[in-house]
Amino acid sequence: MIDQLWEWVVIAIGILVVLGGLLVGLMRGRGGRSRSAPAPGRGTDVLPGVGDDAEPPRDAPKRSVQDAGSVDTLPAPEESLATPAPAPTIERPESARGRLTRLRARLARSNSALGQGLLALLSRGGLDEEAWEEVEDTLIRSDLGVEATTELVDSLRAKVKVEGTTDEATVRGWLREDLLRLVDPSLDRTVASSRAQGRPAVVLVVGVNGTGKTTTVGKLARVLVAEDKDVVLGAADTFRAAAADQLETWGTRVGVPTVRSDRDGADPAAVAFDAVKAGAEMEADVVLVDTAGRLHNKVGLMDELAKVKRVIEKQSPIDEVLLVLDATTGQNGLRQAEVFAQVVDVTGIVLTKLDGTAKGGIVVSVQRKLGVPVKLVGLGEGPDDLAPFDPEAFVDALLD
Ligand code: GDP
Repeated sequence: MIDQLWEWVVIAIGILVVLGGLLVGLMRGRGGRSRSAPAPGRGTDVLPGVGDDAEPPRDAPKRSVQDAGSVDTLPAPEESLATPAPAPTIERPESARGRLTRLRARLARSNSALGQGLLALLSRGGLDEEAWEEVEDTLIRSDLGVEATTELVDSLRAKVKVEGTTDEATVRGWLREDLLRLVDPSLDRTVASSRAQGRPAVVLVVGVNGTGKTTTVGKLARVLVAEDKDVVLGAADTFRAAAADQLETWGTRVGVPTVRSDRDGADPAAVAFDAVKAGAEMEADVVLVDTAGRLHNKVGLMDELAKVKRVIEKQSPIDEVLLVLDATTGQNGLRQAEVFAQVVDVTGIVLTKLDGTAKGGIVVSVQRKLGVPVKLVGLGEGPDDLAPFDPEAFVDALLD
């Protein structure tokens, strides 16, 4: 009986020992896990150990491929603790409407010699041959061109003869009318900048380096942003080291992306192609492509521009080719215009630096030479100093 009792006691102790061991094992397992698991919100305090789960929990939110590629979607540990960097301020450019009126004083300042000189001559009275020659010289000096000068002088002579007056107000009226006719207000000066047939407008900007081409692309982006257009810039001037940086800076200021190559001397046609492709993918309204102009000879220029054009056209028609000319370069500028016109179908002219020249007559001569309108004018180095060309405001400024 006592033997049997001992047997039961031994079995009970055995069971208790086994149960106790199991309990201790379980407690250890929990305790070990809790030490290596990151505390909530402090994931970086404890480094993951070998064998820790590499996979995210099944219910973790999924990230897209773009997210995965983007380094700034997940804040770095230091960043999450540091003060956030201030977001870049996006500028709101000045509306294009009325810009020429605002800039009229600059135009008048540099071109007053033309208007005032003419008015003084014409209202002097008793106009003899010598006086008419002086009128002609004044007009030629303003780069109006021989043909337009002859037309203008013939018209004025006829009016003076018929009306028999040299009253200043009357003469000013005649001059205004004749100059306006030469500038031709009937030309379509709109710049293609809207989507059509489900694709963005493509604008190619060409011209010799130094004329203000890159600056013009930047300023034009601002004009278009002010009109609520979605713009993409293409930095295809890959020859000038700083050109892409310069363009990107213009773009960043108004929140416009720039497609560029990080390599100097990259194929400009490839960059232009990528820019147009990106514009289509982003469903932009317009893609502005800056091109190189520093070429040593005409053949090089022809070849490169022709290639850029051809490569873009594999993807999209080109809606606008803007030729940038420096108004201060006179006849030289006109020769450049002819060379470019042989390579690409120029659809509009941008005359820069009109604020620094008394040769406003170039507006008329370049339009006549190329048969395309001046669409925009540059009147200063400020970001909003590019204005849509307005014939009436222009002629009024000449006669101020
Ligand atoms: P690019 O080599 O043709 O691309 O020429 P940039 O765009 O670099 O411009 C050359 C210089 O011309 C820069 O100093 C510009 O600020 C200046 N510039 C451009 N447009 C105008 C303008 O309308 N008026 C004045 N005064 N300067 C201008």
